[in-house]
Amino acid sequence: VQGIATPAFSQSPAALRRLLSALAILEQREGKLNVGSLSAITAAQKLGGPIHALVAGSSIKGVAEEAAKVEGVEKIIAVENGAYDKGLPENYAPLLVENIKKGGYTHVIAGHTAFGKNLMPRVAALLDSQQISDITSIEDEKTFVRPIYAGNAIATVESSDAIKVITIRGTAFPAAPIGSGSAAIEDGVDPKADSPTEWVSEDLAKSDRPDLATAGRVVSGGRGLKSKEEFDRIMLPLADALGAAVGASRAAVDSGYADNSLQVGQTGKVVAPQLYMAVGISGAIQHLAGMKDSKVIAAINKDADAPIFQVADVGLVGDLFEKVPEITEKLSKA
Ligand code: FAD
Repeated sequence: VQGIATPAFSQSPAALRRLLSALAILEQREGKLNVGSLSAITAAQKLGGPIHALVAGSSIKGVAEEAAKVEGVEKIIAVENGAYDKGLPENYAPLLVENIKKGGYTHVIAGHTAFGKNLMPRVAALLDSQQISDITSIEDEKTFVRPIYAGNAIATVESSDAIKVITIRGTAFPAAPIGSGSAAIEDGVDPKADSPTEWVSEDLAKSDRPDLATAGRVVSGGRGLKSKEEFDRIMLPLADALGAAVGASRAAVDSGYADNSLQVGQTGKVVAPQLYMAVGISGAIQHLAGMKDSKVIAAINKDADAPIFQVADVGLVGDLFEKVPEITEKLSKA
């Protein structure tokens, strides 16, 4: 799905504007907008009605101002309260519900990220709606397309709920660009709900490399790398030569070669970069579920019958310990 499509729905655009209104939920961390969450605005644009976006947390003024520049957004609802910084669903869900009720929205859209997956089912339950998860396309205001069975089947689902609570697959909706819009910024309702959950700490893998979920190029390593030392020695220079994010198969993560946050697949991240390079990865169906929509897939594997070659656009049969350093060297010189 590309760009801002004119919805081909049955109602006239004017009638639609009266009927529909969408709230896109934006993510922020430490006062920085998560640009990937602007995908929720792209999805909302497909509906054709007015769009508001909500952001909550401490020091969110800059985030709200940045989001206000996205074309087509009428209003930014900002709730300045540090209690929402960590996106704890226990207090974030009542916050959303109050603002949804006040705004009378028909569609509430968030990314199918850890944040969205944690939050939106609770919002849906509080609104007595059936959540619609991980959609890849909007057919009309009540009909949505979503992959099921790890992408092996595509379901078209219809919702008759008054308020549709939706999470979207980021790879199917490009983030709305920050343009020269001038949405109004308004204080939202803050129910200041008590949360029975307390934020204790987080242990995040820090990296200067591009973010895996949004990178244009991804190089992923699998069990074929044999150890963490070899994974780092082979994969990191390749990633740097390509300016790519690093990913991994579940077998590589489970074996301790790579951090959990790097897992690509059914139970990891879903990515669709311009280039996905799979190194020493067999191509199990659960791995393919996370990367098969990549524009160009390149695979290096010593087994010519490895299933990864069935989805690869470019394949190299050979020993990765020999081939990858060769490729890295050539790329570094290029
Ligand atoms: P292997 O299957 O062991 O493949 C290693 C490959 O490396 C082989 O093809 C081998 O030929 C090649 N190789 C070995 N040495 C070399 C060498 N020197 N040079 C070149 N090639 C070499 N998996 C995921 O990745 N992501 C998920 O999200 C995920 N979710 C899952 C969810 C469920 C419910 C289940 C049941 C499984 C899930 N899996 C997931 C696991 C998945 O089924 C596979 O076990 C896993 O993807 C295998 O990882 P791999 O390809 O690295 O390892």
